[in-house]
Amino acid sequence: MDQIINIFTALSGLYMITYFIDSLFETQKDLKTLKFNKLRHLDAYNIIDNFATQDTQSNSNIDNIDEILEKLSYPSELKEIIITFKNYIDPINFETCIGKLNNLKINYFNLIHDIKKYLQNFCESEGKYIPKENTINIYKVFDKKSVLTHEFLHMASTGKNQTSGFCTNLDDIWIGNGLDEGYTELLNERIFNSKHLSYTYNIEIIKILEIFFDNPKDMEYAYFHNNIFIIYQTFLKYGTKEEFFSLLQVLDNLVETDIPIYKKVTAIKTKLNLYIILKRSQNKEKILAAEKILETDPLIKLLKSKNIILANKPKQKIKIKK
Ligand SMILES: [Zn+2]
Repeated sequence: MDQIINIFTALSGLYMITYFIDSLFETQKDLKTLKFNKLRHLDAYNIIDNFATQDTQSNSNIDNIDEILEKLSYPSELKEIIITFKNYIDPINFETCIGKLNNLKINYFNLIHDIKKYLQNFCESEGKYIPKENTINIYKVFDKKSVLTHEFLHMASTGKNQTSGFCTNLDDIWIGNGLDEGYTELLNERIFNSKHLSYTYNIEIIKILEIFFDNPKDMEYAYFHNNIFIIYQTFLKYGTKEEFFSLLQVLDNLVETDIPIYKKVTAIKTKLNLYIILKRSQNKEKILAAEKILETDPLIKLLKSKNIILANKPKQKIKIKK
């Protein structure tokens, strides 16, 4: 493990350069993520515990989902999506979405329909859920289904604060965007069998984060209840607050950066870091599960096949001559 870390530390030089170039040319889309909001990073760090202790109880009636669904009106193309979604998730995770399904709108934008809006959004995103209007906008022309199911999940996880999944506003400081996008796409794959390949690096990292939970369904509950603090508290079982914020920042960076070498190296480093944190659990099952995910990375697999062992060697004690 030490050798692998050394290799990637050496590669860090390369990606620092690409990161710097990326920073020069990037346009500041919105000051949402920690990458763009470095000055406020420390503020978020200081206040997260106050937010984490706030009670976020829900009180929806979810005993009769089928009855409620029958009375709602929503676009017909959602019918199949809703059935698949309902069959997959725990009923308690339906409560955030059920109130919004009624009158949910879908707008399709394409070159002919609305050139200006299409061009404005095409490069930035393929779809968007707009909570205030309870509307899903789709800008993609092909493979619209996977974009629609992705946006459907953003809708289904949008809480009272009008933020989705793990996106969280702590006194105007935004955290969790990269975690939210990666987990949304991971669920999109799992629930809807979507083959859409966005946020792949975030997904790989989040699969290891998921192992921090004794029951991965608890992570789903946190997502559909717009509650990043459950992730935070679970992470703290083995990790530190610093490590949690650094993870959030990396996940944000991976969403905001388009440079492949930066993404690749950062993702591997982050996966290995999470693995090291997870090893503190001393839980063999969890460690093994993380190793399995690590080995799906071709580069890590290659290093392992060259006999670079994926385990910490016990540090030798220095003998002091008396
Ligand atoms: Zn998204």
